[in-house]
Amino acid sequence: MIPYACPDINQDDISAVIEVLRTDWLTQGPVVPRFERAVVDYCQAGFGVAVSSATAALHLACLALQVGPGSRVWTSPNTFVASANCARYCGAEVDFVDIDAETGNLSVLSLSTKLVIASQNGTLPQVLVVVHFAGQACEMAEIARLAQQYGFKVIEDASHALGACYQGEPVGNCRFSDITVFSFHAVKLVACGEGGMACCKDPALVERMRLLRSHGVTREHGADEAWDGPWYYQQQLLGFNYRMTEMQAALGLSQLARLPQFLQQRRQLVAQYTALLGSGAVSPLQTPEAEASAWHLYVVRCRDAEERRYYFEQLRVNDIAANVHYIPVYWQPYYCTLGFERGYCLQAELYYATALTLPLHTRLGTVDVEQIVSVLNSGEFA
Ligand SMILES: *Cc1c(COP(=O)(O)O)cnc(C)c1O
Repeated sequence: MIPYACPDINQDDISAVIEVLRTDWLTQGPVVPRFERAVVDYCQAGFGVAVSSATAALHLACLALQVGPGSRVWTSPNTFVASANCARYCGAEVDFVDIDAETGNLSVLSLSTKLVIASQNGTLPQVLVVVHFAGQACEMAEIARLAQQYGFKVIEDASHALGACYQGEPVGNCRFSDITVFSFHAVKLVACGEGGMACCKDPALVERMRLLRSHGVTREHGADEAWDGPWYYQQQLLGFNYRMTEMQAALGLSQLARLPQFLQQRRQLVAQYTALLGSGAVSPLQTPEAEASAWHLYVVRCRDAEERRYYFEQLRVNDIAANVHYIPVYWQPYYCTLGFERGYCLQAELYYATALTLPLHTRLGTVDVEQIVSVLNSGEFA
């Protein structure tokens, strides 16, 4: 079976993890700060807070931006559920902004229309979580302008976009946002097994996320009267254990060194797909800047839902595991219990009905791409 995604672990990656296992530091050692520094250098971010998952990073990002009961957080329906759940963890209300069905990214037009209405009703969001779908950056300059105008904060869920660029600058530098979150889950561009990072320029937000990552406990006690010895520590906030292990960070460091190669391989495979698909039965998502995408996913659109189902099954029969990204988040039973109904974001639903994710990873060969495309181009709809 050709999987839709697959980690690429080489001997260097394995050696890096084994090296850590031979030391006395399995957690809270020197490798996590080194990994944070490497990601920060790579994407020209100010600071990085490595955590156990992107979900944890999104949660900390919301908390750092003071999201709580009574807050409103908006996000895209075309994402993994974690982009919305982070706000629910904080007791906030979640709402969804429709997408552009041609790119899969949040529609700036829908956003500005929704903001005008919210501004009239007094229901403006405190935070917007944007998602760089499939590795292609959203229109951040326009989004930042609206954030300025309406006074909300922006979190970039860049789980798909480590290595992507926007306006010639790396995603993660937070030029147009407050916090950017990356995922190092096994299917993502750089794999730690599980892992995430929040990048941020503001030292105060970083300090808050660091504190919350580790139980809200600090050994820096200032002039605390309860200090009664050098062993003293202090819990200042209700934090969590969201720490990343040294093994995960070692794997991440080793993988990050290979990212330029991964990106190049992905771009080559994408170019091959796009050329072979030509004007066949399915067409790739629009990527105005194909060279700037991190190409986490290669998504094509079919002409209708029936065709999508047919191609998905034809690929399965040929031992090719396609996938579908994403079911609109608010269709999930959990979000239905909060009152969301079908038809809420029409473009996201139209997109979902016809989207198909083809395999894309660095262990895929040019022969595999040929085989996949031949299945698509020889179907009864071709
Ligand atoms: C993978 C993913 C997440 C969650 O990442 P984890 O590291 O598994 O918690 C969140 N948002 C998006 C868009 C993702 O693809």
